[in-house]
Amino acid sequence: MTKPTITVLQLYPKDMNIYGDYGNLLVIQRRLEWYGYEPTIIHYNVGDVFPSDVDIIIGGGGQDSGQEVIHADLLKIGPKLKILAEKNVPMLLVCGLYQLFGNFFKTLNGKTLRGIGILDVETIGTHERLIGNIVTNHPDFGDIIGYENHSGQTFLGQHAEPFATVIKGAGNNSKDSHEGARFKNVIGTYLHGSILPKNPKLADFLIHTAVTKKYGDFSTDIIDDHFADMARAIASERPR
Ligand code: GLN
Repeated sequence: MTKPTITVLQLYPKDMNIYGDYGNLLVIQRRLEWYGYEPTIIHYNVGDVFPSDVDIIIGGGGQDSGQEVIHADLLKIGPKLKILAEKNVPMLLVCGLYQLFGNFFKTLNGKTLRGIGILDVETIGTHERLIGNIVTNHPDFGDIIGYENHSGQTFLGQHAEPFATVIKGAGNNSKDSHEGARFKNVIGTYLHGSILPKNPKLADFLIHTAVTKKYGDFSTDIIDDHFADMARAIASERPR
């Protein structure tokens, strides 16, 4: 019997992929397999043809220089991403791509990189680097555990809702306790780590949303997340 397929697109793995962000793809791929689906993985880099059929989109962080490399291409595919976001496609964007899914990122060297505006946030480069282990909380996903390293500070606009609340660490900025932003099923977050191996509930949210959207229901075996739980316990106790 052929298995139902789910297509996962990873944005810019060549230039936007730091602090283990690639692990997010591995988690989605493996959990889809465990749940009985056939993952099709697409690595989308600058200049590639954007596929017509996508079920989950993920993207990682990068240096300011990496963000400059992908910037023009991202603006080009921005309208397509926006349509997919409006259609409730689940997406997870970490740090550098979170910033560029917002309205703009003004870098420390004075450049303003216009974003694609799916998330109503703006980011300003600062001399203060927000770095270290971070724990946040989300009403559905519980504690979310990760690692942040960014000098851009992000502020929510009127139409943005925060993704999570900071318990330990900085999150979006050094002023409020918001972490990340959310629009429909698009989640922007500063958490590397990678985030998904230590936060399987979040991985399952992306998978569950994609599968029910495509196939109408989602019936699965329970996955043994024993090792993820141990990793969560240890990582959440680490000092900042
Ligand atoms: N270059 C951006 C910043 O420093 C993003 C960094 C990252 O993706 N970790 O704010």
